[in-house]
Amino acid sequence: MSDTTTDTKKENMVMEHLVSLTYRERLTPNLNRFVDELLEGRLVGHKCPVCGRVYVPPKGYCPLDVVATGPENEVEVSDTGTLTGFTIVTPVAYYGQKETQPFVYATVLLDGADTPLGGQDITGIAHDQLRAGLRVKAIWLPKKDRKVEGISNRGFGGLGEVITSFEATGEPDAPRDVYKEHIF
Ligand SMILES: [Zn+2]
Repeated sequence: MSDTTTDTKKENMVMEHLVSLTYRERLTPNLNRFVDELLEGRLVGHKCPVCGRVYVPPKGYCPLDVVATGPENEVEVSDTGTLTGFTIVTPVAYYGQKETQPFVYATVLLDGADTPLGGQDITGIAHDQLRAGLRVKAIWLPKKDRKVEGISNRGFGGLGEVITSFEATGEPDAPRDVYKEHIF
């Protein structure tokens, strides 16, 4: 056996491993501010000085007008809103799945905001009663129990363990004009 053959065999050696990497990074200043307020029970965003759209959480810019926004553009929005769309997920058993019963994955447009929040749970109402236009209100955990570990710069990550779900307010449904731009 020549040396060349041995070297070729070595190059083709493959070892399979499962690896885990943990990234730690600081939240962006805008998201950090959002999280501070969230822990205090307030939802804040930035209002574009050109078009007036309110982004929640704040992006630090309006992508439509290409203008930067900052603390001077901060506004508080309501913790009530309108359900704009939803999916009812029937869990199947797989590794790591904690849900056993069908649950809701909903999008809520908060009053005063122009960007909807995805991935919200809607509780206290039968699933066959869910509909776009349903008026809902955030259910906040007690201040001492709030956690925001799940919120990251990468894809935001929802409202962490601060707002557990939204419940119907009992108000009449919002007119379609309120949410028609946000249905998906
Ligand atoms: Zn704008």
